[in-house]
Amino acid sequence: MKALIYDGSKAVYREDYPMPALGGRERSLIKILMSAVCNTDKEVIKGYKDDFSGVMGHEFVGMVQESDDKKLIGRRVVAELNSGCGECLYCRTGRMHHCTDRKVPGMSNKDGCFAEYMSYDTSLLHVVPDEIPTEKAIFCEPLAAALEISELVHMPPSQKVAVMGDGRLAYMIAQVVAANGTPVKVFGLSEKKLKSFADFAETSTTPSGDFETVIDATGSPLALATSISLTRSKGTLVLKSSYAGNAEVNMSEIVVREIRIVGSRCGPFEPALNLIRRGLVKLPDIELHGLKDYEAAFTSDAFKAGFTF
Ligand SMILES: [Zn+2]
Ligand SMILES: [Zn+2]
Repeated sequence: MKALIYDGSKAVYREDYPMPALGGRERSLIKILMSAVCNTDKEVIKGYKDDFSGVMGHEFVGMVQESDDKKLIGRRVVAELNSGCGECLYCRTGRMHHCTDRKVPGMSNKDGCFAEYMSYDTSLLHVVPDEIPTEKAIFCEPLAAALEISELVHMPPSQKVAVMGDGRLAYMIAQVVAANGTPVKVFGLSEKKLKSFADFAETSTTPSGDFETVIDATGSPLALATSISLTRSKGTLVLKSSYAGNAEVNMSEIVVREIRIVGSRCGPFEPALNLIRRGLVKLPDIELHGLKDYEAAFTSDAFKAGFTF
């Protein structure tokens, strides 16, 4: 089958990659309909996951071909990323996302979705309601990641929140926070990208002000110091960016000003599907490429780029 592989140093397109085999926890075979490039995939190429090699990609909509859950066959699905062992301390205490032996497509111990087929842990699949088109459902994973912030941090509607970043995740986060009535200020580098936030947030290219809650979704280590400086003393800084390399900051400021730092990764899929189905979030268009044209997809300046199969 066609697949885009990370070989440990670069991306390689192949047409002779072996079909995935079902077994262990993976009892569903998915035909990929569409997959999307995420900043994390670009970081994988830069060495963010130095022990990973295999098929890249983790955001997809697929069609179930075979499954131990027969009612899923023929349905479109999206999928949570972390497949836990079910036995370790984390799995036994409701933290399967942090299983020490977890499989994460395109990142850890598991082939990803930049391929024609994928095997998957059936318990992680979520059926896409018929009324949601595939090009909208593809945003489920980043929208779920945005919703996770509301699971972790109380953001009273009367307190303005700052979002650092003007990319796709920032776009989802700003909408989810603003949906509560909360005033949102988005700081980004690109005037053009910031324009698309105008319906639900104030925007600026010059970070300033002070906020009870600041959310860093820049996908880069460079914004961290600014994010800290925008956070009020005793306020909360939510970190949503994962990247290769380290950030350099003065940690004393966090100690002295007693800033709470909250790391946040994946989020709940069903609420994300609910928001999409009810049309409560604006979703950008996705620019689609053939898998062979992966370089165009990876370097595209479209708001979201991806692959169709
Ligand atoms: Zn992603
Ligand atoms: Zn486990």
